[in-house]
Amino acid sequence: MHAVVFHEHGGPDKLVYQQVPQPTPGEREVLIQVKACAINYLDIWVRKGIPAYRISLPHIPGTDIVGVIAQTGSKVEGVHPGDRVLVYPILHCHRCEYCLSGQENLCTSVRVIGVATDGGYAQYARVPQENLLPLPESINFEEGAAFGLVYLTAWHMLITLAQLKPDQDVLVLGAGSGVGSAAVQIAKLVGAHVIATVGDREKIPKAQAIGADEVVNHREEDFAQRTRDLTRGRGVDVVFEHIGSETWPKSITCLAKNGTLVTCGATTGPEAKTDLRYLFTRQLKLIGSYIGTRRELMTLIKLMEQGKLRPHIHAVLPLGEARKAHEMIEDRKHFGKLVLIPEA
Ligand SMILES: [Zn+2]
Repeated sequence: MHAVVFHEHGGPDKLVYQQVPQPTPGEREVLIQVKACAINYLDIWVRKGIPAYRISLPHIPGTDIVGVIAQTGSKVEGVHPGDRVLVYPILHCHRCEYCLSGQENLCTSVRVIGVATDGGYAQYARVPQENLLPLPESINFEEGAAFGLVYLTAWHMLITLAQLKPDQDVLVLGAGSGVGSAAVQIAKLVGAHVIATVGDREKIPKAQAIGADEVVNHREEDFAQRTRDLTRGRGVDVVFEHIGSETWPKSITCLAKNGTLVTCGATTGPEAKTDLRYLFTRQLKLIGSYIGTRRELMTLIKLMEQGKLRPHIHAVLPLGEARKAHEMIEDRKHFGKLVLIPEA
């Protein structure tokens, strides 16, 4: 089969489109014919190589896998070749206190498909049966792939952890990114007042089109000052962070009293200063978030089936153009998701 492989860590040029042996499913696994695989910023970290993710080389990246079951292992029951499926990306133990309480994303031995295992930048991928969720006919493969990880992450952050309410103000940083665009849509679905930041004038109408009430170009104005102005000095109830050290100190000053900052990433770096006076005098909450649960992904599939959420796809590219797709994401020229399609 064809796959995109990297043999050493580094830039986008390390992604090689080549022939590799087709995997064989284990007894409780299925082989999926990959119909679409979305690109996440996670793939870029994995390609570059960071200590948090130790992977064996050569490696096939790709966490957001959708496709059709091609083959089932001998002990697989209840699913069949030809079934349309979407893959829940977290491998977990089923036994720890977190798994037993439905928080697979906190499992003490959590691993991510496409990071700890070969992923979906390939014509075929093998995954455990327990990670399969049915993909309804009304959701096409590109959309199914595009909505997995980022919508799950944004939902877990805004709904489960920050408990965003319709009467609240929320600031979504980086609305042009996959996770940022998902957050704008989810916040709008809740009915909240959404302030979004983008780094490019051309992205302003795009952010408005997916639900942002106010859009701030952070390259042209101070987003913290503008956020305070837009909320008449009060600040927002929730800040949706994933940018990291570049924005963190200002993000905290955007919060209203009792406000919540929730973060899932640190694209610009992991270290940041926090003015503790803000934290205690304003009774702020700082919350970290990691992907999401299977239950949440099932909720999202339903919302998508009902037409309430629809991922914004920037581009769909053939699998062989994975390198170009990574370059587009690193240049921040995109708005929404990029999806790779293997040849049939
Ligand atoms: Zn566990």
